[in-house]
Amino acid sequence: MPAITNHMPTAELQALDSAHHMHPFTNGDELAAKGARVITRAKGVYLTDSEGVEILDGMAGLWCVNIGYGRDELAEVAARQMRELPYYNTFFQTTHVPAIALASKIAELAPGDLNHVFFAAGGSEANDTNIRMVRTYWDAKGKPDKKIIISRKNAYHGSSMGSASLGGMAGMHAQGGMPIPDIHHINQPDWWAEGGDMTPEAFGLARAQELEAAIQDLGEDRVAAFIAEPVQGAGGVIVAPDSYWPEIQRICDKYEILLIADEVITGFGRTGNWFGCQTLNIRPDIMTIAKGLSSGYQPVGGSVVSDEVAKTLGGVEFNHGYTYSGHPVAAAVALENLRILEEEGIVDRVRAETAPYLAEKWHSLGDHPLVGETRIVGMMASLALTPDKASRAKFASDPGTVGYICRERCFANNLIMRHVGDRMVISPPLVITKAEIDTLIDRARRALDECHAQLR
Ligand code: PLP
Repeated sequence: MPAITNHMPTAELQALDSAHHMHPFTNGDELAAKGARVITRAKGVYLTDSEGVEILDGMAGLWCVNIGYGRDELAEVAARQMRELPYYNTFFQTTHVPAIALASKIAELAPGDLNHVFFAAGGSEANDTNIRMVRTYWDAKGKPDKKIIISRKNAYHGSSMGSASLGGMAGMHAQGGMPIPDIHHINQPDWWAEGGDMTPEAFGLARAQELEAAIQDLGEDRVAAFIAEPVQGAGGVIVAPDSYWPEIQRICDKYEILLIADEVITGFGRTGNWFGCQTLNIRPDIMTIAKGLSSGYQPVGGSVVSDEVAKTLGGVEFNHGYTYSGHPVAAAVALENLRILEEEGIVDRVRAETAPYLAEKWHSLGDHPLVGETRIVGMMASLALTPDKASRAKFASDPGTVGYICRERCFANNLIMRHVGDRMVISPPLVITKAEIDTLIDRARRALDECHAQLR
């Protein structure tokens, strides 16, 4: 077999890719007919493909490359750590300096008394940890019947059996026998799609109160926890009305339900604070973290838990863990990523400068004939595409048809935006400059124009 390198012709790379590589969330036959886009390198907010085309990555990979691409410091830390201690585990009463340092740093950054970290290699694993952890917590409290976890339709919490069951994506539940038992889903707070004639505030309150109704229905003594993303990401950057989160917090407090904030996307500066909980004034008992923790440079995630949860679990041997829990190279890289985010003031700059600038430009797309709602929190934003703004109408075509066309027009204009049904979403690297935001918006508008023209 010849060496497979960046220098191979694109068509040959694509043929080998479709012969041997199974892609996540992809129809293999469709991809084989089309050929995957081959990305060869990246710097800052730009990707380069195998044809030498530069593409503005409006998604920071999968919502994760918060510090941008090409930071040599992280490569150097990884190489140093690999030479010193490439691997050791944290099972069986053993530890190592990178895991100690990263857990301590996360405890320092996390709000309230979230001072303890159980590491995983990503968000799905961490949410699987959470399922077992909250049930073990209630066992330890002498309440073994508290097993049910309430989540939301259209939530995304990962792809493993446990985390995808927590998620509320119908297309995922249709494959592979999900959800697992004792997971219950309430409706999401998506006013644009589901709010009907209600005001956003009344709708937000009503959707939050579905949690209270579910707890009463299922039995307070059987509900262990409620899990939610502070801002739904993969569901389409759905921002709840302002009335939603205070009511959710009130209900969790009243019924002593553990609140799990899945901060896999919203953590590490994405919303303009270190955590989405701080932006939305939520007080979780557990946070799920991953993605921006290492800016995607290494696979690492975890569950950050309160003093109370950690104390209760303290006397239990929690029979759970992953080979790569607290992996020393991943931990060292994550620590360096956090150093850069902090020392370069990236989170503060997002909050004070670039997110407000992006918000102004993003909302300006609201005058486009295809765009209904424009939503944005920090550096995550969405556009609802519609044939009629006033009635918030859906297109006559299958859901996602127009979104797909728009995404393809973005690609053609060298911009990566994602579509979730007929919503367009962005989540750029947090280091994006104002000039790069201008480029992003110009390309997005051009893509919307071309999509509009194609529909007529
Ligand atoms: N939770 C949320 C909110 C996510 O957005 C994701 C991934 O997109 C996950 C969990 C799963 O994380 P991973 O893909 O690292 O397993």
